[in-house]
Amino acid sequence: MENNNLPEPKLSLVVPIYNEKDSIKPLVENIVNSLDGFSFEIIFVDDGSTDGSCEIIKSIIGENANFKLIQLRRNFGQTAALAAGFDHSKGEILIPIDADMQNDPSDIPKLLEKIEEGYDIVSGWRKKRNDPLSKRIPSKIANFLISIITGVHLHDYGCTLKAYKKDVVKNINLYGEMHRFIPALASWNGVNIAEIQVQHHPRKFGKTKYGLSRTFREVLDLITVKFLLSFSTKPIQLFGTWGILSLFLSGACGIMLIILKLVQGKDMTGNPLLYLAILFSVLGIQIIMMGLLGEMMARIYHESRNHPTYLVKDSL
Ligand code: UDP
Ligand code: MG
Repeated sequence: MENNNLPEPKLSLVVPIYNEKDSIKPLVENIVNSLDGFSFEIIFVDDGSTDGSCEIIKSIIGENANFKLIQLRRNFGQTAALAAGFDHSKGEILIPIDADMQNDPSDIPKLLEKIEEGYDIVSGWRKKRNDPLSKRIPSKIANFLISIITGVHLHDYGCTLKAYKKDVVKNINLYGEMHRFIPALASWNGVNIAEIQVQHHPRKFGKTKYGLSRTFREVLDLITVKFLLSFSTKPIQLFGTWGILSLFLSGACGIMLIILKLVQGKDMTGNPLLYLAILFSVLGIQIIMMGLLGEMMARIYHESRNHPTYLVKDSL
């Protein structure tokens, strides 16, 4: 039940939980000790746990009006769990943190100092990362790719512990493995991003929910993000360029074909150039049509959501 007499908390900690029963109590203790004097709420998002995590959270939230539980119907994944937490948060600053105590709540005041300096996003960097090599290497590769492809340069996109001003994440639709791309997606909105080193501990209880396949899914999401960042408002510019190039190649093949016929009397039907001319012309038209479809979808999207193609910071 809502308690209307309570002032709104300034910070909203969002904790995604999937089978972390042994970590929850010590984590809450750490958070409470680290945030003495801060006004904060904790939003536990139970992402379909089957190990009794939910019961443990329920027993804890009874003790404090600023602890909340959002229970998802099944396991939707960490990104969806974070999105649910963000949607139900009331604070001005949102702080996602892992439930497994690999992140350290004592770093939160440092993140907040940076926010006070005027940054919109402060990202944690697990410089000394306490994970096995099998996790660190794919993560290094993913970080490298994300950095060059999105043009937002951070050392550690995957670190859950970050601080966001509420407005920054409010406009971002999170799905797939998107939470690690929030800084990149937000960069479109013209935000200031800082990165600070945070601690990282080995997992004490339970086990990791991820294997190598996560890196593949991330790379696929990276393609989406790149596309959204570069072309979501103007798909025809991407598709059109390739389509016209393809039509141009088709024309070049056709001309060669005619020249060969006229000058050397070479048979047109048996010539591979004929097939290339046909292939490139069909391909070119298809690609341009895809661009036009994209334009229609982009238009419907932006109009239906009344979604402007720009964001205003201030107007005087
Ligand atoms: N998590 C979740 N839903 C999932 C997978 C993970 O809510 O489907 C939570 C998990 O309980 C933990 C956080 O996301 O709090 C990070 O997961 P994990 O520690 O397994 O990732 P790793 O640190 O190994 O990268
Ligand atoms: Mg972990």
